[in-house]
Amino acid sequence: MSRAYNFSAGPATLPETVLQQAQAELLDWHGVGASIVELSHRGPEFLQVAQEAEADLRTLMSIPQDYAVLFLQGGATTQQALIALNFAAPGQTVDYAVTGHWGKTALKQVKPYVDAKVAANGEAGGFRDIPAYGQWQLSKDAAYVHYTANETIHGVEFRDIPDTGDVPLVGDFSSSIVSEPLDVSKFGILYAGAQKNLGPVGVSVVIVRRDLLERAGQPRAEILDYRAHVKGESMLNTPPTWNWYLAGLVFKWMIAQGGVSEFAQRNARKSALLYRTIDESGGFYRNEVAAGARSRMNVPFFLKDEALDKPFLKEAEAAGLISLKGHRALGGMRASIYNAMPEEGVQALADFMRDFQNRNG
Ligand SMILES: *Cc1c(COP(=O)(O)O)cnc(C)c1O
Repeated sequence: MSRAYNFSAGPATLPETVLQQAQAELLDWHGVGASIVELSHRGPEFLQVAQEAEADLRTLMSIPQDYAVLFLQGGATTQQALIALNFAAPGQTVDYAVTGHWGKTALKQVKPYVDAKVAANGEAGGFRDIPAYGQWQLSKDAAYVHYTANETIHGVEFRDIPDTGDVPLVGDFSSSIVSEPLDVSKFGILYAGAQKNLGPVGVSVVIVRRDLLERAGQPRAEILDYRAHVKGESMLNTPPTWNWYLAGLVFKWMIAQGGVSEFAQRNARKSALLYRTIDESGGFYRNEVAAGARSRMNVPFFLKDEALDKPFLKEAEAAGLISLKGHRALGGMRASIYNAMPEEGVQALADFMRDFQNRNG
C-alpha cells in the first residue's frame, strides 16, 4: 500500500504517524482491554485524553488562562450560529467582514437573530483581495466584529489581525489555526472546525475570553450555551470522543515536530514554492488573489486552457497527487497544504506541474 499526497481541503490529510498510532491503539488503548472509543467519556481514561488535548493545545497556541477552551460538536457552521446566540442580544448590531464563501456563510447563520451589518465586502472584486481597513465601516455599538482569517475556498488570508478597538474580535480560524504563531489575547473568540488543520471532522475548537461568557445573549437551550459548556467541561452530553482523541494525537505530533513556529516556517516554504511555480509558468497556471492576501493554506489555481483540467487531474492522480479539483464555486484546481502536508508533497506537486506544462504548454 502507498499513501498518496492528498491535497483535500477538508476533511484533509492527517499525519501518517498519528494514523499509525491510532491504528496500533484501536483495539486496546494503553492496556485497558478496550478501544478509547468504547469507554465512557466520564471514565479516567478518556478524561486523561481530554485534559491532555486541552493542555497541549494551550501549550501550542500559548492560550492565556483567561480564555476557556471548548471541544464541541456541530462543526464550524454551528459555532457561527451559536456566537450570535451567546454574545449578542436579540436584534443587537454585529459587524461582519465578508472576504469569501465562509464569511458569507457566517453572516447567513446569524441573520435570524441579530442586526448583521456587512462592515467590509470583497465580493465585487470576486473575493480576490481583502478590503483595506480604512474602508471598513464598523458600528460603534456592535456586539462583536466577525472575520474569516483564511478563506478556504477563495484562498484569501489575512496576514495581520484587524484592529477593532474595544469591540471584541471573533475569528473563524477553521483552515489556519495552529499554522503560525497567533496572539490569542487580541481576540474575543476564536473558533475552528477540526477537519482542516486539527484532526478529523466531528469536533470544533472554540477559544473564548471568559469575561464574554457573562453576556446574557439570547434565549437558548443549555446545549447551545457556551457558558454551560465551559462549566460542563465540554461534556454536557456525550462528546465526539474519537475525534477529540485523534485531535489530541495531532497536538502531540505538532509539539514533537517543534510546535507552531516550526510549522509556520514549513508552511511559508510550501506556499512560496507553489506560488512561485504558478507565477513562473508564464500564464500556463494562474492564481488571481492579490499578492498580499494569498493564503498559505489553500492555493486555488487555474490552467490557461480549461480543456486541460481533466488530463491534469487524471495524470496528477496517477502520479500520487490526489484531491486537487477546485471547489465547484470557483472551478479550476485547489491545493490545500495544511500542517500535515509534508514539504515533499508540495515539491512533488510543483515538479508535476512543471512537467505537465512542458508536455502541454
Ligand atoms: C470548512 C470551513 C467552515 C465550515 O466548517 P464545517 O465544520 O463544515 O461547518 C467554516 N469556515 C471555514 C473557514 C472553513 O474552512
